[in-house]
Amino acid sequence: MSETKSTRVVVVGGVAGGASAAARARRCDEHAEIILFEKDEYVSFANCGLPYFIGEEIAERDKLLVATPELFKKRFNIDVRTKHLVQSINVEQKTVSVLNRETGETIEEPWDRLILSTGAAPIVPPLPGIDAENVFTLRNLNDADVIKAYISQHNCQRAVVVGAGFIGLEMVEQLHHLNMETELVELQPQVLPPLDPELARLVQNELTAHNIKVHLGTALEKIQVEDAQAVGVELGNKTSIATEIIILGIGVSPAIELARDAGIEIGARGGIAVNGFMQTSHPDIYAVGDAVEYQHGVLEEPLRIPLAGPANRAGRIAGQHAASGSADPMIPPMGTAIVRVFGLTAAMTGLSKKNAKRSERNSRSVIVVGKHHAGYFPGAQQLFLKLTYDPETGQVLGAQSIGCEGVDKRIDVISTAMKFKATVRDLAGVDLCYAPPFGSAKDPVHMAAFVACNDLDALTRIVEVDADLSQYQILDVRSQQEVDTFSYPEITHIPVDELRSRLDEVDRSRPIITVCHTGMRAYVAARILQQSGFENVYNLTGGMLMQRYAHPELFE
Ligand code: FAD
Repeated sequence: MSETKSTRVVVVGGVAGGASAAARARRCDEHAEIILFEKDEYVSFANCGLPYFIGEEIAERDKLLVATPELFKKRFNIDVRTKHLVQSINVEQKTVSVLNRETGETIEEPWDRLILSTGAAPIVPPLPGIDAENVFTLRNLNDADVIKAYISQHNCQRAVVVGAGFIGLEMVEQLHHLNMETELVELQPQVLPPLDPELARLVQNELTAHNIKVHLGTALEKIQVEDAQAVGVELGNKTSIATEIIILGIGVSPAIELARDAGIEIGARGGIAVNGFMQTSHPDIYAVGDAVEYQHGVLEEPLRIPLAGPANRAGRIAGQHAASGSADPMIPPMGTAIVRVFGLTAAMTGLSKKNAKRSERNSRSVIVVGKHHAGYFPGAQQLFLKLTYDPETGQVLGAQSIGCEGVDKRIDVISTAMKFKATVRDLAGVDLCYAPPFGSAKDPVHMAAFVACNDLDALTRIVEVDADLSQYQILDVRSQQEVDTFSYPEITHIPVDELRSRLDEVDRSRPIITVCHTGMRAYVAARILQQSGFENVYNLTGGMLMQRYAHPELFE
């Protein structure tokens, strides 16, 4: 009786995508030969936890090591070879050439299926002084060890973080946690560039409230170096900042060299092109994680989404398909992401308004300001939720939320609904669990959907937060005290509770925009006007509160 040859699955890269792929391949084929090559010392470590390890919020280093090569061997019978760099792929011979970095020996390793999860490399701009010893990027455990050791050995008191994306913000928070005076530099005119600018301003305020000096709209131009150590930075706006350590968090570029040199197709966005089963242009070579382009769930075009969730899910799919020949295809991710910045959380899914505009997608956005649980229950915290949708079909295109509590829940609910192509009408009816300590009978998710439905139905049309208000008669329906605090200069002021008896003070000949603090009373006012024969009535979404964040220069 002839023995069937077992499948040989070779995985390159042993962290998020690679470790998932290898473990799933084993669970799908007990007889496969599975070898995982990792060029560095560790596999399956928690890179998302690295900033918190540096900042000592995660005290024990071992907690970051999710699985060891020994565990992979014992539990999964996977041959993990660390410090092994895969140098090239021979597509015809179906082999990889691997350098053992300890012995210097090079071997040819055959494969039937090859899975690439090579990740991405931090971008390091070629600037004067960039090679100084204390200019760091953060990608792996070794980077974290080196940063931590440098801070401790030099008793660093001052830091500059370059890049106000997710990793940059996490590092700012954690360096502050170490009592370091920290300044943040960002090329874009806002922090957290994936967010819309008015919401990003809330994050910026949280940073400045914690004494983080934020330099926006300016580039790092030069690093001042003395004795091979960076001692300061110079920015495009001519600001100089003294520092003892610099952390670069300005993005990553996909590690595609292995694939590209083997003739595998690279997509228009610079990542490895894959299908839903994570197969590359060579059907026996798979790729996952930060190195690839995923089909985006809303834009329906390939995009790079360098996040851990998609990498883990894609690894699982590739591992199963490589081992068994079938799997459910990858559900297109939507860039759902979250970050904590001191007391605030910012989260997002799908398209921001900014992205929708950039991709020429017709969209509308409403903003509601609610509480994370029933307002009357102790501890209720303010929560901002922006919902972006297609004004023709009502399909939800994206959402962003900022608050102290409950932000993750709202974004996860909306992201899940979006997976099923939900419209704002669907969202208005989702059945969410409720009791006062947990939410509200009408949750902010419902409230945002209600506002959007009213807009779609022309029951109360909204004006978006960044609109030019000069063409409107602004009817401010807040109290006198609120108007005195801050207001637009040219307004008609009638408190909402007096509106029915003072309708003759409103100019019928001009389009009217009703405003209040967050939009709720303005909605009531708009309905009174509309049902009293006024035409062209609109509600300013997010109210005066969001105007303050959208146009701070007007209220200084
Ligand atoms: P990686 O996890 O980077 O693994 C790639 C591995 O391949 C590396 O270990 C590398 O050494 C190895 N390798 C590369 N080339 C070769 C080769 N030729 N031979 C052998 N080995 C090779 N995402 C989130 O969603 N949420 C978060 O909170 C979050 N926080 C993060 C914090 C930090 C500090 C960092 C760096 C990333 C964070 N991410 C987060 C992103 C997330 O970690 C990545 O999206 C994810 O790790 C990508 O998985 P991957 O397998 O593609 O790459």
